[in-house]
Amino acid sequence: MSVFSAPSFDDHEQIVFCNNPKTGLRAIIAVHNTALGPAVGGCRMWDYASDEEALNDVLRLSRGMSYKNAMADLGLGGGKSVIIGNSKTDKTPELMRSFGRFLNTIGGKYLSAEDVGISVEDIEEAGKETKFVAGLNKGKAASGDPSPFTAHGVFYGIKASVKHKLGLDSLDGLKIAVQGLGHVGAALCEELHNQGAKLFVTDIHDKSIQNVVEKTGATVVSTNEITGLEVDVFAPCALGAVINDQTILNFKTTIISGAANNQLEEDRHGEELTKRGILYAPDYVINAGGIINVANEVHGRAVSVADGMKKVENVYNVLSDIYKVADSVGRPTSIIADEIARAKIDSARKKQNEGIKAA
Ligand code: NAD
Repeated sequence: MSVFSAPSFDDHEQIVFCNNPKTGLRAIIAVHNTALGPAVGGCRMWDYASDEEALNDVLRLSRGMSYKNAMADLGLGGGKSVIIGNSKTDKTPELMRSFGRFLNTIGGKYLSAEDVGISVEDIEEAGKETKFVAGLNKGKAASGDPSPFTAHGVFYGIKASVKHKLGLDSLDGLKIAVQGLGHVGAALCEELHNQGAKLFVTDIHDKSIQNVVEKTGATVVSTNEITGLEVDVFAPCALGAVINDQTILNFKTTIISGAANNQLEEDRHGEELTKRGILYAPDYVINAGGIINVANEVHGRAVSVADGMKKVENVYNVLSDIYKVADSVGRPTSIIADEIARAKIDSARKKQNEGIKAA
């Protein structure tokens, strides 16, 4: 397995491979960039088909966290971790605690929070061994589960997209397709339903579908149908790479705005969306709500839920600005976002280097 020449390697600062045969832990921690502060990003537990797939995922996700944290001006760098295994059958308290001990070996350069397959309770278990965790329910400035904040930010992101593309201030009567009804997707559906949107939903778990249908009266469609529906907005809230060579030919929506990380299978798919007149909300901009709230905890700021929610609504303004710049230069929103984030990181790194030279 190559690391430095892996397709998703992007000058990552540090990559740590963790192995503990006693607890069954196999994990990779990737610190992408700490120019703006300590790297913060979630831990994902997933049954990867190969080590290469896990490495590729953590490299891409950690770069995304650098861009996300930079774009939201959180004073944090970007990192991510993945635990290889099935979160429903392989996860034990001992495994999470051994993950916590590995976090200590990086000495605070990376702090872990929740992601797919990892709950607040799991992170708290790891937290019995390390202080380098965030997104906790207890403790000074504890910020809890980031998902409701992510969902609220995505809701405001959808509003910004609808305003920009359709010129509408309201979601009342709009058709919105939501793929994935987990922590974020389910909460998002409730907010959209409360604003009068007509929902079309899918998931691979019947129980998750049932929960959302009971609360919102959403129409259920198959997992294959969801990307080809004639809707106003498609909101991907499951896993990544949903915008790819196959789906792109199928989309009948003009807006893609959802929570999933790494929605574009490859960067070129962002350009393809622009050519097809589909407005794309860069994933790490629209789904920043959770980390915006976790950042309060990392910086030791105790914030009420109401104030935390209010803060993430700024996703609306950040996205609207990206859309305006992208329109004015006729370039993809995904590339404009990357350029803004990269410039913020590079400028912080330059200042650090100048500081070192002067010392
Ligand atoms: P989750 O695991 O709670 O939910 C994901 C849901 O997607 C599950 O219900 C799963 O059954 C469903 N799913 C998986 N494959 C599917 C498929 N092919 N078709 C339809 N449904 C499918 O995860 P989550 O916390 O809700 O996160 C959802 C997405 O948002 C992820 O990509 C995650 O990385 C991203 N995200 C989450 C947060 C957060 O705060 N939780 C923050 C930023 C980004």
